[in-house]
Order: sequence, then C-alpha cells, then structure tokens
Amino acid sequence: LFQPSPNIIRLKESATLAVAAKARALKAAGKAVIDLGAGEPDFDTPAFIREAAAEAMVAGHTRYTATEGVLPLREAIAADANRIQVQGTPVTPAEVVVSNGSKQSLYNACVCCFGPGDEVLVPTPSWTSYYEMIELARAVSVPVFGDAANSLKVTAEQLAAAATPRTKGLMLNSPSNPTGAVYSREELSAIFTLAAERGWWVIADEIYLRIAYEGGAQSALEVAPTRDNLIIINGVAKAYAMTGWRIGWSIAPVALSKAMNAFQSHTTSNASSISQYAAVAAIARREEADVAVNAMVQSFRERRDAVVTALSAFPSVRYVHPAGAFYVYINVEGFRGAADPGAAFAAAVLDEYGVAVVPGGAFLTPGWVRASYATTQSVAVDGVTRIAQCLTA
Ligand code: PLP
Repeated sequence: LFQPSPNIIRLKESATLAVAAKARALKAAGKAVIDLGAGEPDFDTPAFIREAAAEAMVAGHTRYTATEGVLPLREAIAADANRIQVQGTPVTPAEVVVSNGSKQSLYNACVCCFGPGDEVLVPTPSWTSYYEMIELARAVSVPVFGDAANSLKVTAEQLAAAATPRTKGLMLNSPSNPTGAVYSREELSAIFTLAAERGWWVIADEIYLRIAYEGGAQSALEVAPTRDNLIIINGVAKAYAMTGWRIGWSIAPVALSKAMNAFQSHTTSNASSISQYAAVAAIARREEADVAVNAMVQSFRERRDAVVTALSAFPSVRYVHPAGAFYVYINVEGFRGAADPGAAFAAAVLDEYGVAVVPGGAFLTPGWVRASYATTQSVAVDGVTRIAQCLTA
C-alpha cells in the first residue's frame, strides 16, 4: 500500500551502509574482512567522560531538558569556540543549539534556511547526507566539483561560476569527508568573502576540525569576515570518540538559532540529558580532554603516515593527500572499464582481496573509493596495500 510521499520521492538509501551490510554478511559467513569502510574512531570514549555520564545519571539528570540543551553545555560550547580568535563579538550561549548529533544540526539548518526554489552549492565530493538533506528541505543541491590537482577542493572562483540568482547557501566541510583534504586559511577566506558579498548562508561542518595533521585546520569562526551568514556545525562524535552518544550543535545568529530550536522542539526535543552532561565533561574539562584528544590524533597521524608510506610503493596509484579526518580517497578511474569504476572496484576488492571500502559514487565521484584508517595501523596498512595490489594487478 505504501507509496512514498513527495517529500521522499528522491531519497536514496545510503551507499555507505550498503557496503557495510555486504561486509557484515561476508564476516558472518566466516570470511576475514579488512573493514576500511568505517566512518568512526575505533577508540573508546575517554574514561573521565564515561564517568561523568554515570555521575549525571546517579545525580538524577534523567528528565527532559530545554530543547536547545542545558545551559552548562551551551556555556562550555561557547567558551570552547571563544578559545580561538573569533572574528567580531564572542560567541554566546544564545547562539548555540544542542542536538542529537551534528547530523541533526545540519538538517535543522537546511530546513530553516533553504526551501523550494533555492539552490545550495555543495563542494563535491562531499559527505553523502548533504545532498539528501538539502533535497529533504525541498531545495536543490548543486554539486561543484573540485579538481584532483587541488585535492578535489573547490575554489571561490568555481563556486562563483556555479552560482545563479537562486543560490541561497553553501555547504563547507574542512577537513573533508571523504577526501581528508583541509582548506587553507587563504582558500577559506576567499570562499567566506564571496559568500558574505553574495549574502549566502555558509553551513560550515567542522566535525573533523581537531583531526588535522599539518598545522591544524582553521575554523570559520577565525576566518569568516562576518558571522551574520554563518552556521558552524560541530559535535563530540569524532574528536572525542563519542559517535554513539549523539551530541552535536550549531552556532548561528540568534534569530536562526531560535528557528532551529523551534523546529527541533517539534521533531525530537532535547538530546539525551545524560549525553549532554557527558559532553559538558568532554568540552569543559579541557586539560583531560586535550590529553585524550591529542593522543587519538597522534595515533591517527601515525596510521596516516604508515598508509601513505604503504601507498608510495605503488607510484601509479593516485590519491588525495590525506591532511585531516581519517580517510584516504583513492582514484580508481578506468578500473576494468566499468561504467561505475568505484562500485566495480569496491565489489572486486571485497570479493578478491577481502577489503571493504566505500565507492566514490556515494559522494558523487564514481572514479574514486574511500578507505578509512580508523582501525589498527597494521590493518590499515594491510588494507591499503591490498587496494593498491587490486588496482595494479
Ligand atoms: N558531518 C560529516 C562530514 C560526517 O562525516 C559525519 C559522520 O560521519 C557527520 C557530520 C555526523 O556526525 P554526528 O555523529 O555528530 O551526527
């Protein structure tokens, strides 16, 4: 009886999940699979954060909270944002809305800023959910393709060329999922200046901000000439190894924050009260958190270095230089003459070499695959070596 409503008529199932399902089925059948498909840190949440959650539960923080999140958490988020040299006035808790993961904040922002007739520029390749969220908001996602010579990043000129009078906003993700590329301060500055001139919203997804290996990654807060058109998205998932806790947030102008809060109040209400107090510990107990985060980033860095060394043994294999996040994006154009080389390669490398990767078609670039090194160093090295062998066989 079910007929999809016009709201979801164009909704596609996540391609990332399809590969994961196949890898799981092979594992269940007893086959050894090297899983480089994961999009989450392999570390446990630091102990002091888990203890803070247990304490919150015992202390009775088990009821509904304000939709926008408890004040101590919004204060901690604002204080954390103000650790860097913020342009203009400091961030205040009134600009912060806490949600059930940065994914929800991204969706809140898309629904509240964009609607029918609006176009939203999406530097591509990009995380698969951006396109779907924009379409769910009944706006149009406009992919803007980056050049391989520029680590698949887009330039302000490319964005300007893709714009029309209907352009309403822009998604920006640095460090990037799926490429691991990091935008420089100059690149960001040019893009934010263009967006401010044109009056576009910029949704800056900074979920991987702390996971950057070469001098760090710049936040929009320190680069953008104004915050009037800026929505910062972040969360605890990747930096603090807290994917399951589901805490994200937006930092946006107060009027927009109120709208996002109203929207969230009718869809999910507040994020888990216990997770919110765990997040307070993660963000406010800076010294302990910095020790834990730095150790995880150092470990990612060592794996990144090992992966790059392993790939360098195969000079014909091209990939985006992985400067942040925990992904390496590998070119598979021309693989066995397939129409969708990324999908063909992902299937072949799983069947023949026992390695699970995500086909680049999920990120609108079918000539590539994404491998995650959020796994032990030996597994990551073994995995990318097999990928290179499959590519060069
Ligand atoms: N943004 C990007 C670019 C991501 O890769 C992910 C998760 O994979 C998210 C947002 C979602 O994170 P959260 O767990 O906070 O919803």
